[in-house]
Amino acid sequence: MNNHGKRRIYLGEFNLLMNGSTYLPLVSGLLRATAEQSETVREHFEWAPFLFHNDRLDRLVDRYDRPAVAAFSSLMWNAQLSLRVAEQVKQRHPECLVVFGGANVPHHPEQFFRDHPFIDVTVRGEGEAPFTVVLERLAVANGASTVDLDGIAGTSWRTGRGEFRHNAAEQAFEKDLDLYPSPYIEGLYDDVIRSHPELQFQAIIETNRGCPFQCTFCYWGKGGMSRKYRFHGIERVKKEIEWMAEQKIRYVFNADSNFGMHRRDMEIAEFLVATKQRTGFPHKFRTCYGKNTDEKIFQIGSLFHDHGLEKGITISYQSVDEQVQKNIKRDNIKLECARELQRKFNDRGVPVYTELILGLPGETLQTWIDGVDRVLGSGLHNQLFMYICQVFPNTDLAAPEYLAKFGVQTKVIELAEIHGRVRTGEWVSEQEEIVVATAAMPGPDWARALVFSWVTMTMHSLKLGCYVIAWLVDRFGVKHSDFLEFVARGQFDGAEFPRCAQEIATFEQKIERLRQGEGRGCVMPAYGDIYWDEEEASFLRSSTDFDAFYAELRDLTIEFLEQRGLPFDLHELDEVIAFQSLAIPRPAGRTVSYARFERNVLDYFTALFRTEPIALVAAPCVVEATQPDFAGDLPRFAKETILWGRKSGTMLCKLRRCVATEPFVSEPVAEPAGAR
Ligand code: SF4
Repeated sequence: MNNHGKRRIYLGEFNLLMNGSTYLPLVSGLLRATAEQSETVREHFEWAPFLFHNDRLDRLVDRYDRPAVAAFSSLMWNAQLSLRVAEQVKQRHPECLVVFGGANVPHHPEQFFRDHPFIDVTVRGEGEAPFTVVLERLAVANGASTVDLDGIAGTSWRTGRGEFRHNAAEQAFEKDLDLYPSPYIEGLYDDVIRSHPELQFQAIIETNRGCPFQCTFCYWGKGGMSRKYRFHGIERVKKEIEWMAEQKIRYVFNADSNFGMHRRDMEIAEFLVATKQRTGFPHKFRTCYGKNTDEKIFQIGSLFHDHGLEKGITISYQSVDEQVQKNIKRDNIKLECARELQRKFNDRGVPVYTELILGLPGETLQTWIDGVDRVLGSGLHNQLFMYICQVFPNTDLAAPEYLAKFGVQTKVIELAEIHGRVRTGEWVSEQEEIVVATAAMPGPDWARALVFSWVTMTMHSLKLGCYVIAWLVDRFGVKHSDFLEFVARGQFDGAEFPRCAQEIATFEQKIERLRQGEGRGCVMPAYGDIYWDEEEASFLRSSTDFDAFYAELRDLTIEFLEQRGLPFDLHELDEVIAFQSLAIPRPAGRTVSYARFERNVLDYFTALFRTEPIALVAAPCVVEATQPDFAGDLPRFAKETILWGRKSGTMLCKLRRCVATEPFVSEPVAEPAGAR
């Protein structure tokens, strides 16, 4: 209690701090903005500054000064830290009421209460209304041990005598989401921004809540949100966008489940574009697009792309196998719609990236490989992300009966957030639970599928072999997976292809370490202080000597064709390898390179992914490749090529065909790599 007789509330929402930037704490802001509507709360409580990013445990605990309430928004990346802070706060301040909410808090928390005796209340689903009532009850009680929490929908709590109580009633459905005031418009973050000039803030906007789908791996599919939509008024959404622009927020993440599904989303998109044109902010707007509405999404995605608001467009499949789609309750999402969208975006030059999740119930090694062929065969030439399936609390996938039905085996591993700062010993380590086997995909198959996935992403998505693979598919009628499996399974003499063999061995060793609990992220100190995905690490390893890599890829491609008895033109292959090598940016060296070709390679590869491909024919040309001058700065090379370039489709050098009158003709022209 302070001098004015008010008790102090602390809101802990420990977001990740990445390279000096972090999210404004939206959950904390919503909780506070809603609670402040209550006269009782205003009369009895005051608010400590938001605790909005992760930090060392001791530093966080020291921030709590005579707290009456310590509330935590518990998510995968801060769950353990939140628990440790809460435990120590309770030890130091036994009178403090400790409240937990967020996606990581079990909806049936009896065991959770047993495991964590310092927790007094948990809230499931939306926190705004129940948290306000909890505060009102506390206002009239003599501290945490005497507060009466009976009858608050959506809560579980510990009584003064230490007994567990659970209120099974769910909160009433209120269609009007504006019942909860906007923390942005209410000015709740103004102080945060003013007092932290050293940080760059990102913001989350939600224009609606709810999702009509029920994907079994997703919190929204079951536990978190209603299946019915609830909307914020359009004027409020616009005011929030304006506020974000005024505060010079560069990156806005939209928390909607299916942006573009509603007619008014185009109005929101146009407002974002107009705001950016007027103020320069936000720079980027990242969203999850609707699953079944292609025309609206095509228009919105194109608009964002034209104005540089979206790096690339995500079209999520998760699995393309019909039975798996049924198993994960995603069978009402139309795959044809996604394929059609992908073609249209390709034609318009808008980068598309898509996602598959490895280890979903019913997926076999073969359906996984077939799925990759279907996705790549449908014309995806930008990014295919293949994620290891994570198990989130309060989803179907976490339910014992569902796990048993599909024979799902999981492993809790260390959380090493991809592109997050490498955690050192002074940080509380976090955890994630991943699927490592299912009845349909036993452990050895899962490991093979994972190696195959890493090879696919390294060669295709990170572009190391994208043109070579496209050429093989087009000219020889093979499937993408034929070559990718050939590499992934090491169907070659490792002594002859040592780089490739070493990469496969590295992947296999990583899988063993994952099984022992190591995190997914790879540490590569030469490329900066962040975790990299395994395929990104593979790309960076190859980048130490791309010329040697392409010499080996050339011979490996010959080996592949010869093993299959496929006749080929060696000079044509050399030109393809030379083109592939020319397109990959180097960490050091020239920023402009030229290569002479006897065939129309640039036009051929450019058209290959569009609706009207053209043939590879004799047509001499010189291609110019331009890249940034990295000057041997490896962290910058990694950041700009992978972190920035991967999703925006700007990984590769800028390529253009030169015409005979241009001055370059007097400059040296590179020989195709590996030519003989
Ligand atoms: S569509 Fe997206 S948000 Fe909705 S349940 Fe499926 S994964 Fe979750």
